[in-house]
Amino acid sequence: MDDLIQRAAKDLADSKKAVALTGAGISVESGIPPFRGKGGVWEKIDPEMADIDMFMRDPAKVWQVLIKEMKHIIDQAKPNDGHIGLARLEKMGILRTVITQNVDGLHQSAGNQDVIEFHGNFAWHYCLICNKRIENSRIDLSVIPPKCDCGGIYRPECVFFGEMIPHHHLLRSKQLSAQCDLMLVVGTSAVVQPAAYMPVIAKQNGAKIIEINMEKTQLTGNISDYLIQGKAGEIINKIVAEVERLNELR
Ligand code: NAD
Repeated sequence: MDDLIQRAAKDLADSKKAVALTGAGISVESGIPPFRGKGGVWEKIDPEMADIDMFMRDPAKVWQVLIKEMKHIIDQAKPNDGHIGLARLEKMGILRTVITQNVDGLHQSAGNQDVIEFHGNFAWHYCLICNKRIENSRIDLSVIPPKCDCGGIYRPECVFFGEMIPHHHLLRSKQLSAQCDLMLVVGTSAVVQPAAYMPVIAKQNGAKIIEINMEKTQLTGNISDYLIQGKAGEIINKIVAEVERLNELR
């Protein structure tokens, strides 16, 4: 593994326009469970709860079973070494953008300036009737589902299964994926489309693809040049320390 960390550090130090694609796995060390895999949310909750049809049919149930729980966990979470490492790479001028599938806002809390929230966020909610937006911290959970003054139900500004990715996010993500010379793919099972297609676009356009994940994915040995297997925070911390060392020598 140390060889792969050295290799990733060198590849990053040589990169002129790197991009990261992150998934739920990068936030596991911050205490937020992923959807899939061991300890994942789908071990306890039916994935149908994240479907827009289910939300529109029974918003009280989805708020009670999924959103309230996720909101509670996300509200307590702090960035870990994985998020902080990506922010350090941006400061060094290596990493241009983080394309994240996460809704937890931890990349911004860590200091990354350019974050595309591919699946939206939990930082804001809006009313289904009058579209009024409200900050997460002002959502009153004493009544479920939480409601606006107009009586409409609030929903988080995230993308449910069955909904479209906001056009500007998809377009910019595709452009950056096509232009980058290196893509770090961190903590994503790479099964949710169209996010999982971004590494394919990057690869087709000549970028190096470095995967960091606890497990192999369908990108491994196929789209990714190599996989560094283990916890994202620990691995990114080591890689970034090595990039800093290499930069001092140059
Ligand atoms: P996923 O749940 O499908 O997969 C998680 C991946 O992370 C797996 O491949 C797993 O092996 C890996 N992983 C787990 N712990 C890890 C660690 N410590 N270090 C490195 N890798 C680790 O996640 P996904 O691919 O992002 O897709 C699921 C969707 O769920 C996303 O669209 C996202 O919107 C949503 N989601 C977001 C959050 C969040 O905001 N933190 C949490 C759960 C789900």
